[in-house]
Amino acid sequence: MQQQGKGSVGFIGLGTMGREMAANLLKAGHPVRVFDVVPGATAAAVAAGAVAASNPADAASGCDVAISMLPDTPQVEEVIYGEGGLLNAPPAGKLIVDMSTISPVAVRRMHGDLAKAGVAFIDAPVSGGPVGAKNAALSIMAGGDAEAFARAEPYFKAMGTTISHVGASGAGQTVKLCNQLICGINLQAICEALALGRASGVDLEQLRHVLLGGSAASWMLDKLGPQMIAGETGAGFRIDLMFKDLRLVQEHAQALNVPLPGTALVTSQYVEARAHGEGANGNQALFRVYDRMSNQTSNQTSGEG
Ligand code: NAD
Repeated sequence: MQQQGKGSVGFIGLGTMGREMAANLLKAGHPVRVFDVVPGATAAAVAAGAVAASNPADAASGCDVAISMLPDTPQVEEVIYGEGGLLNAPPAGKLIVDMSTISPVAVRRMHGDLAKAGVAFIDAPVSGGPVGAKNAALSIMAGGDAEAFARAEPYFKAMGTTISHVGASGAGQTVKLCNQLICGINLQAICEALALGRASGVDLEQLRHVLLGGSAASWMLDKLGPQMIAGETGAGFRIDLMFKDLRLVQEHAQALNVPLPGTALVTSQYVEARAHGEGANGNQALFRVYDRMSNQTSNQTSGEG
């Protein structure tokens, strides 16, 4: 139910994450206008009380803030600079928050271009996956000006629980890229442990249970371990999106002359997974790279991740 005094939101990009985040803004009482290039993507939000818009500018029209949750840098650039984009028709509140994972360099360029037009821009990527998005329990890492962050914070509180202003424009993306390189390398470590355990005849569910009680415990082992063991490939966070994140990590590191050999190694396994048609599968399908390398098979089913 919409509440008086709650800021209005133009929300752009209602995919796996965005639809849950928009639903939580509505639940918290914010009036929401929605736009996605796939018309059906907005249906659930509209049924929950959102207004469907015809392009990003229309979604932002009259709103206090525009929030985007899009796949990659080119889509965010399209929403800012493209026809019907936000640079020429910003929200009335002159605040844009992008919560996608994209290039920190592109973020700083957009921040500068929007600042010239008198519009504040916050980069606020998230961690926590579709479950965190659904439960309004995301970790949100924001970069940008302090005053703009303060204005964005009430909206973040409707979508997340750990909300941090981590620095100037682009800093949110840098922190998110650090998060992603840990997730990728951790996932690879779990694949290797499961491959070794399986070849040794150890019960993999028991192995996972024991590891979760000790110093090898991790979010990835907890949340994706069961699907890896079951060979279940349904997408929550797609292989394609993680590959994109690891590419962004490497571009950023190379520009700064920071060697990241672990990231390079796990990225090559994502290349292998994509070459075998796994791009639309969930990240747990990285274990299937190990199936192929060791000529073993896990049960192969698909379902909701
Ligand atoms: P998704 O592909 O499911 O959703 C993206 C949505 O954006 C789609 O509905 C698509 O139609 C829409 N879209 C694409 N181009 C558009 C445009 N120009 N204008 C309007 N809408 C457009 O992706 P997702 O899983 O929701 O992820 C979104 C972002 O969040 C990505 O950057 C991803 O890396 C990041 N992320 C995802 C997860 C996860 O677990 N899925 C977790 C953390 C962060």
